[in-house]
Amino acid sequence: MGKIFYCKDLGSDCDWKGAAYTEDELFRKVVEHAAERHDIKDMLEEQKKRIRELIKDDSSVKENIAAR
Ligand SMILES: [Zn+2]
Repeated sequence: MGKIFYCKDLGSDCDWKGAAYTEDELFRKVVEHAAERHDIKDMLEEQKKRIRELIKDDSSVKENIAAR
């Protein structure tokens, strides 16, 4: 079981999804993506919390990681 995050769940018009084996690893990828693509450099605690809430379990994480 891995973790998956869809950027569009944050309400943005973005089709990026991130996948990783652990929540912390995925969280780092999301923060990186937010900085690169959405120019969010200093994320608020509230936004970080929201991301944690939106990270979901993913049973096909291997395929999703391979697809990136
Ligand atoms: Zn995005």
